[in-house]
Amino acid sequence: MTNKIYRSIILTSMSVLIISLIFITGIIFDLFEGQILNELKNEAKYIGYTIEQDGTDFFKNFSKNNNRITLIDPNGTVIADTVADTETLDNHLNRKEIQLAIENGSGTSIRYSDTFTEKTVYYATVLSDGTILRVSTTQYTIITVLLGLIQPLIVILIIALILTFFISSKISKNIISPINNINPDDPENNNVYEELAPFLSKIAAQKKTISKQLEDAYQMQNEFKLITENMNEGFLIIDEKTNLLSYNSAALKLLKAETVKTGSVLTLNRTHNFRNIINTVLAGERAESRMQYDDMTYNLIANPVYKNDRVIGAVIIIIDITESARREDMRREFTANVSHELKTPLTSISGFAELMKDGNTPPETVVDFSKSIYDESQRLISLVNDIIKISELDERNIKYTSEPVDLYELSSEVIKRLKPSSEKKNVTVNLIGDSVVIYGVRKILDEMIYNICDNAIKYNKQDGNVDVILSSADNKVKLTIRDTGIGIPYPEQSRIFERFYRVDKGRSKAVGGTGLGLSIAKHAAIYHNAEISVDSIVDKGTTITITFNKN
Ligand code: ADP
Repeated sequence: MTNKIYRSIILTSMSVLIISLIFITGIIFDLFEGQILNELKNEAKYIGYTIEQDGTDFFKNFSKNNNRITLIDPNGTVIADTVADTETLDNHLNRKEIQLAIENGSGTSIRYSDTFTEKTVYYATVLSDGTILRVSTTQYTIITVLLGLIQPLIVILIIALILTFFISSKISKNIISPINNINPDDPENNNVYEELAPFLSKIAAQKKTISKQLEDAYQMQNEFKLITENMNEGFLIIDEKTNLLSYNSAALKLLKAETVKTGSVLTLNRTHNFRNIINTVLAGERAESRMQYDDMTYNLIANPVYKNDRVIGAVIIIIDITESARREDMRREFTANVSHELKTPLTSISGFAELMKDGNTPPETVVDFSKSIYDESQRLISLVNDIIKISELDERNIKYTSEPVDLYELSSEVIKRLKPSSEKKNVTVNLIGDSVVIYGVRKILDEMIYNICDNAIKYNKQDGNVDVILSSADNKVKLTIRDTGIGIPYPEQSRIFERFYRVDKGRSKAVGGTGLGLSIAKHAAIYHNAEISVDSIVDKGTTITITFNKN
């Protein structure tokens, strides 16, 4: 803007200067011409008077440097002339000033040289004797004058230009400086040109609108962030070129991306399923798919975003379904295992019954068969009971009543109930420790202690030992069941809490195991926020420890 003002001032000043110079020269020249004519008239007046008095002698003494004076008779013949020999001069009757003088008594005319560099101004007047006196003077034309003035004019123009540069630079800076000093943060509170007041008011109003809009946008963004950041689900927004526009931290966590590289969302995850779902959604279709990533299972839901019937991006939600997928798998496996476990005793029962049904079986065999049928049905009953227990604990929708339970007293009861089986193997069960009360569900805790103690006896050696130890320290209550049994090989120790897992299937069956005892014990521990662990050495014995938080 400063430059524009600066250039305009220079242009205007120079134009005004040049035009003025031309006009002033023209006016002066015009005035000068009028002046010359007056002088010619005056000169003609007194020369005419002299001629009328003294005759043409006047011409003899006349200096050639003065204006040219010519005396012409009424026929146009030159009688006398101060410049040329009259013999050489032609008839002057057709000259314009002579014609005008004959018609009006006096006349003027101007004639230019061929090159237009000079002009001659003529004034003719009729004297009392009828002769015509003509006075003329030769001058430079305006063109010649201007040409002659060019050099000084250029000097003047250069000086004027330099001055204009300085002055206009200062003026333009002065004009612009108040505008430059406008405080944009407070447009209405500025001491600046009056003409700018409406403009500044408009800026102030717009500033208010923009601040309000920014504030609203900021608030909306914050709300959006608050919502998405509190989501467990991953949230991604992409454009039609797969570029990531927005995301929440859950998305990064689920996709195991530590930092976000700007650019394509495909750099966050390169699995086939992820790629597929992005391609499908950007083709304009809603897509839903399950994705396996490392040891996690995700459900991906992608919705296209349309604008004017054109897909301009997509919103992708990532839901972690690892736990439910795992439960689903477990349930499927459990159902298959249950069917298998139930089938074995039922097949045996059905086989014995089939052999006996036609009545040809000898009575002593019938006794054996009946015993087998009884044993298998007992196995079935224990199996079904254990399945019911584990399902109850699994479902977690059964409301159990919690109460203070003395683990010492409960363990003592369990040991008493297990007396027949411990006596059978001559296993000594010792209860060590003092009364310790925890808050829990008696029925579940009973089941847990029973199953572990039962195992400690079942998998013990003849004349072995079982110690049930209760101790409490650091706000923790420990229940340790230690036996001197066959032990569990190290690689199997982590699996014994799995449903239907048995180290030695034949042995477990022989001792009436269902493969669910420790699974029930683990669920019971989880129900009480307790930790269960195993430590075992083959042929030396096994120690199962449950650590409760004291309440
Ligand atoms: P089961 O009904 O077969 O005993 P559990 O779930 O109670 O099923 O135990 C799983 C497996 O762990 C058992 O089959 C057994 O092989 C092993 N086991 C459990 N407790 C002991 C123990 N105290 N000593 C040795 N092996 C054990």
